[in-house]
Amino acid sequence: MTAYEIAEMRVMNKQLIAERNDLLVKLTKLEQWKYAVEHEVIVTCGGPHDWTDPREMVKYAINWNVMVALDPAVSEAAQALINKGKAEIEQETFELCEDCGWRAFLPGEGCLFCNRDWDANYPTEKEPV
Ligand SMILES: [Zn+2]
Repeated sequence: MTAYEIAEMRVMNKQLIAERNDLLVKLTKLEQWKYAVEHEVIVTCGGPHDWTDPREMVKYAINWNVMVALDPAVSEAAQALINKGKAEIEQETFELCEDCGWRAFLPGEGCLFCNRDWDANYPTEKEPV
């Protein structure tokens, strides 16, 4: 082996070591992603351990988190949305009862609280004012 060939091999060797180090850095980053997804799916979401498709794992984690976010038993935000919807329906549906003063007067039905008749609040024909 000539001195030139040895020098050339040293250069190639340095390049290979640099490439190897770059690949190790990339591999470490990929392992961190893999670990994070596995942890989310298996530990947080309680998913199975035998995954083969990474996309399916991500989909499982997303679906699980959406399901939890929409469950009023565990999500305050979901319960707040339900409460807001109920309040809006009550606000729109029930009217103030002239007898008991409760907002329990249902148009067409009467008061759900004191049983005041529908006709008592709304005479059949409105008289001219
Ligand atoms: Zn009433």
